[in-house]
Amino acid sequence: MTNEAIAENFSLLSKLMDIHGDNSFKAKSYSSAAFTIDKLPVELSTLPADKIFAQRGIGESTGKRILEQLETGRLALLDEYIQKTPAGILEMLHIKGLGPKKIATIWKELEIETLGELLYACNENRLMLYKGFGEKTQHNIRESIEFYFGSLGSYLYQQMESLAINATKKLREHFPDNSFLPTGAYRKQDEIVEILQWVTTCPIDSITNFLEAQQFEIITKTDDYLTVKSKENVSLGFYCCSEQHLYQKLFDTSCSEAFLNAWKNRFNWNPEQYYKQEEAIFEAAGIPFIPPYLREDPTIIDKAVAKRLPRVIQESDIRGIIHSHSKWSDGSNTLEEMANAAIEKGLEYLVISDHSQSAFYASGLDIDRVYAQHQQIDELNSKLGNFRIYKSIESDILNDGSLDYPDEVLAEFDLVIASIHSNLKMQEDKAMMRLINAIENPYTSILGHMTGRLLLSRNGYPVNHAKIIDACVANDVVIELNAHPRRLDIDWRWIDKAVEKGVLISINPDAHSIEGYDDCRFGVLVAQKAGLTKENNLSSFSKEAFEAFLVQQHSKR
Ligand SMILES: [Zn+2]
Ligand SMILES: [Zn+2]
Repeated sequence: MTNEAIAENFSLLSKLMDIHGDNSFKAKSYSSAAFTIDKLPVELSTLPADKIFAQRGIGESTGKRILEQLETGRLALLDEYIQKTPAGILEMLHIKGLGPKKIATIWKELEIETLGELLYACNENRLMLYKGFGEKTQHNIRESIEFYFGSLGSYLYQQMESLAINATKKLREHFPDNSFLPTGAYRKQDEIVEILQWVTTCPIDSITNFLEAQQFEIITKTDDYLTVKSKENVSLGFYCCSEQHLYQKLFDTSCSEAFLNAWKNRFNWNPEQYYKQEEAIFEAAGIPFIPPYLREDPTIIDKAVAKRLPRVIQESDIRGIIHSHSKWSDGSNTLEEMANAAIEKGLEYLVISDHSQSAFYASGLDIDRVYAQHQQIDELNSKLGNFRIYKSIESDILNDGSLDYPDEVLAEFDLVIASIHSNLKMQEDKAMMRLINAIENPYTSILGHMTGRLLLSRNGYPVNHAKIIDACVANDVVIELNAHPRRLDIDWRWIDKAVEKGVLISINPDAHSIEGYDDCRFGVLVAQKAGLTKENNLSSFSKEAFEAFLVQQHSKR
């Protein structure tokens, strides 16, 4: 074993001991041993045992552990620590700006065990509440985590979007005589994009030369397909074809495999056929244009044949903000700022739903503060004209599935959003017990982020979607489509099944700042994939229709 490897082991051991809050004296001695060994002019493996113990800065117990490593290649104590540390906590050591002390706070006090959860906590301003974490630290941690995730190679749609737009612009500028049409997952508005792809008439060697000069690494190159990787680890792919095949290739690469197979079985598919536009492919088949975002489940073809394609929701159909946080709990803007920003966006109402009392980490509202907030809402409503703020709460669903206040307090809210935030590690039966109890509570109007998933970071707890949907129908509960680009929860693949049964969906931004309102768009993009219409989306209701909805909800109480 080299000195470097031994020093690394000691250094990691001392960090892990600090994270676990164990013997800080020993942890210090291991870290100084690491420092000393790293600087030694001779390799320890070349020295006899007594010479090792004679080195300055190496004591009895570190000396023994050096011998152990030289003999066995391992450091048993370190292995023990690695064993009892969650993988996500070990990963945090890769994040610039996160030392053992901060990691210990994150793990033991915030109860966060993965980087994805930590990133989300930064977005919710949760770190700032703890000793040693200011706004600037939180910001730096967020940036380092994003960088680290980027290095793993998969991205949220939202992270890829501006890149796709800029890259398309640059390519078209550089090759003005060639077409560059975005395709693939990005064109389908998938929630996760692994590779940005284009269909192009540009010769493959020309693009290759251009991208190589821009420091892209060539990954694969065939006669007609090229993939490259950027310095930031973003993958780009190019389908190169003739003008003649351009739109067929575009169609071909912007639908799911199941859709494409069904299409080829149903309609004549001549690979040599020339189409002037993608629309012409649909005209030739005698059916209306199916947008790429809907080319997932092949049953959409039947709907197109029957001329029953859904008129999917648009961003402009959002008329109110439902589910948002203010400075009363963990948001970054005051209630008044949140209201004014919604007014400026031309929206008709704001449902303010700060965290409930059990969410101590998010400064959840105790009963007195609930009433104080209601007073402020009344005052603001009296001066905001037609615009209206509704009193809501994002109530934690407690361990037994009950909500977070007694009934007489719940009765004071215009509506209650029920979400699970604590004890996320559970089996399906436990999760279902909590969720179903919450859905059956007559004060629950909306079920928040159903599975608790964080895309690319944390799987949600396991749930039985069909049973939840049935319970929501039976209890007249709306299912949220949380529009945060890392959540997008309920998964869009379940939305049409819910709507068919009669469930109302609500595209909610879960905004923790004014900027958070813009996330509605990402909810709309995946809702389009599900064929959701504005009629089936609560946040598209006019203020009048929304109030009628509230009256109906209150009749449950
Ligand atoms: Zn929440
Ligand atoms: Zn929330």
